[in-house]
Formats: sequence, structure tokens, C-alpha cells
Amino acid sequence: MPTLDWQAGTPNPRLTLLLSARCNLSCAYCYQEARTGPASMSWEVARAALDLLLRNRVHSPQIEFNGGEPLLEPELLERCIRYMEARVGRGDARFVVVTNGTLLDARLGSLLASHDVEIRVSWDGVKEAQRWRGRETTARAQETLKAIQRDHPRYFAYRVSVNMALMPSTIEDLARSCRLFLKVGLSSIGIYPVLGRVERMSSEVFGALGAQMEEVVADGVGHWRKTGSVPVSFLRGKEGGPTQAPDGLCCSAGNSSGFCVDTAGSGWSCPWFAKSLRPQGPLAREASDTLDLGCILDPSFPQRLAELPTKAARVPLLTCRSDKHSSAGACKDCEILGECYHCPASTACMPGNSDPHRVDDFACAFTRATAAARRGFHEKTAGAVLAAQEGDIRSALHRLTEAIRGELEPQFRPRTRGRLPRQPQGGVR
Ligand code: SF4
Ligand code: SF4
Repeated sequence: MPTLDWQAGTPNPRLTLLLSARCNLSCAYCYQEARTGPASMSWEVARAALDLLLRNRVHSPQIEFNGGEPLLEPELLERCIRYMEARVGRGDARFVVVTNGTLLDARLGSLLASHDVEIRVSWDGVKEAQRWRGRETTARAQETLKAIQRDHPRYFAYRVSVNMALMPSTIEDLARSCRLFLKVGLSSIGIYPVLGRVERMSSEVFGALGAQMEEVVADGVGHWRKTGSVPVSFLRGKEGGPTQAPDGLCCSAGNSSGFCVDTAGSGWSCPWFAKSLRPQGPLAREASDTLDLGCILDPSFPQRLAELPTKAARVPLLTCRSDKHSSAGACKDCEILGECYHCPASTACMPGNSDPHRVDDFACAFTRATAAARRGFHEKTAGAVLAAQEGDIRSALHRLTEAIRGELEPQFRPRTRGRLPRQPQGGVR
């Protein structure tokens, strides 16, 4: 029987199931440029992946349902959740669905709420920004979220978030989109740069990004004063942001803390390198071969996962953060190197790039702009983030007390291991 090397305390190991290779939208910037696998995942493949977690008694795994659009396979999604819950009990595994939100209806919303499934809606904001998703879907997204908020207010507050993709052409809409998300009442807003599309950033575009960030900071300060919360993820966290080691692996693609499984049953440590989703150019090929974990049904799968960090450390694209550079200069000289996420996928898919250490200029500009915004936010709020984090802990303790008194619906009782409300992560995805 295959075994995993996760018992040694891997924190919150992640399994991502790409339930569907189909999507009902056609976003202009989708990285899945050529899906070649079966249209949907079979139950045999999904169960094999879940069984791997169960056999190894993995503690508090995160099981993410993704695609394509995972809500095109609602029965499979529900079957996976019920299968796990029947074996580990409610609350031990954490479920996440990443969706464009257009297929969420009252029935699905209630189902996800009743199983405490976190919903991450991919939504780019105002209609001018959202138009890159192929058609006008802003009103639909708003209606859907409003309905979930009305029917499941506590669930909405803790388990529904939005992920916004930012492109140079939508920078001018950034602050307005953030305002819209705040108005909708979202407590977690992730903003990520679209990768691999822009080779050179002009000073005008960078200036426009800085101006929009100033508005986002001003709105964030105002929102915090009113509510005590900091929904925009990159404004949260300690001043200076996360500290990354200057060398070693760039990101989780090279470690074995998680993997995704495509509809054909092949495992990949990052979907960007999945050969079943996009053609891999010369620069990506070496990484793609390394990150290919083989079939989930193959007994050698856990062994390949265990060997991944050693193999990935030999691939220049996936490692040596301080050797990287962008148009802004060498990363080793950058004062925010410790805060910067280098996404190897963005380097691999830069048009015409053959240098494994070249960083996508838009990703670099976004990192510098968010670091400056975080500092500005800290200066203006003089410790607000810390206070907000303390507020989260107070709120978790309050919920714990309420649960003990039996005042909450079962799904809002604290998880077995007493997890606090999720802290959104910043960074490039
Ligand atoms: S912000 Fe840009 S220059 Fe600085 S470490 Fe990151 S990629 Fe390198
Ligand atoms: S940072 Fe980029 S390469 Fe790394 S896991 Fe995320 S998308 Fe994949």
C-alpha cells in the first residue's frame, strides 16, 4: 500500500482535486491554455486521492476543489465531502472550493454552508475589470454573495472570500473594485497579479499602480476604523510581511506539503506545470518533468512525492531566490527580498524568456507596490494590524464560548483542533 511522508507533522497538508477540465467562462488570462485530460474526474481517481490521506491518518488536511470550474461537478464534490466526513468526522478536514461563482445557487450555497466548505470566489471586481472573464458576470456574483450572506450570515463572515486577478489593463479599476468588495461585506480579499503576460512594466503603469494602492490603503484605514477588520490580505500581517529565506526553494511547488490531481489522475505539485493543462515551453519542461508525480493510483506515488524537494532543489527555475532579477534590478540587492514571492511559473511562461532567474516585471512591480502599501497602512494605523489580529483571537474565543453554550449551529462549532478564523495569505499565485 502506498504511504505518504506527511505524518512527520507537515502543517495543514493540501490536496487539490481538479474535478472538472471544463469551464463555463473563458477568461482572457486563464493559464489552462490547452486542457487535454478527461472532461471530469472519475470517482475512482478522487477516492484514491482521499484514501491516500485516510490511510496515512493525515492531520487536518485542506482539500481544495478546483478545475476548470468545480461546480460543474456538484455530485462528485458532494460525494468527496461526505466520503471524508463519514471517515474522519466533521471538522477534521478543511474543505475549500475555488469557483467563478456563476453556478452557485441557493441549493449549492446551503450545501456548502452546511458542510462548512470555504468558498473562494474568483471575481475581479467592477464590470470593467470583470469583462476579461468573457462576459458580464459582476451582477451575478453580487447577487449570489448577497443571497449566501442573507441565508448564512455567520458562514459568509468566516468562510467566503474573493480572489481578484489584476492585470496592467485593470489597474485603473483596482481601488473601485476593492471598494465594491468592502461594500459587499467580504471579510477577506485576495489580490493577485496575472502572471506571464507582461514582460516590461512602463513607469506610467507602475505609477498608476502606486496611485491605486494609495486609495486602497486609505479605504483600508477607513474600513478598519469603522469595523476593526482588515479584509485586503496584503495589508494584513506583520510589518515587513513574510520572511522568505534568500536561497532554497522559491515556493511550495518544490516541496511535498501538497499536490494537485488532474482529471486523468496525474499528480502535480503545482497545476501551472501540469502537462494536461497547458503546453510547457522549453524553460518549463525541466520543472514540469520534476514536478510530475505520476498517477495517483500508482504505488510509487508517495515515494515520488517524498523525493520532490531533493529533485526540485536541482532545478534553477525553482530555487535560488537571491539569483533572480527583474527590470528593477538584482533581487539580492532588493530591500524587500525577504517579503517577495518568486513564482517560477510566471518566469516559465514569460513570452520569449529563456532565463530561469528572470522575474516577471509585473509580478515584481506588484510585490513592491504591496510592500509599500503595507508599510503605509501600518504607519497610518499605528499598530492596527496587530490589533486586528488580536481582534480575531478575541472573536475566536467568543465563538468558542458560544459553541460551548450550544448557541451555534453545529457547523460553526470550533473545529476539533480549535482552528482560528483563517488568516488570508498574501503572495503571488
Ligand atoms: S520585489 Fe522585484 S526586485 Fe525585489 S526581490 Fe522581488 S522580484 Fe526581486
Ligand atoms: S508560486 Fe507559482 S510556481 Fe509556486 S506554487 Fe504558486 S503558482 Fe505554482
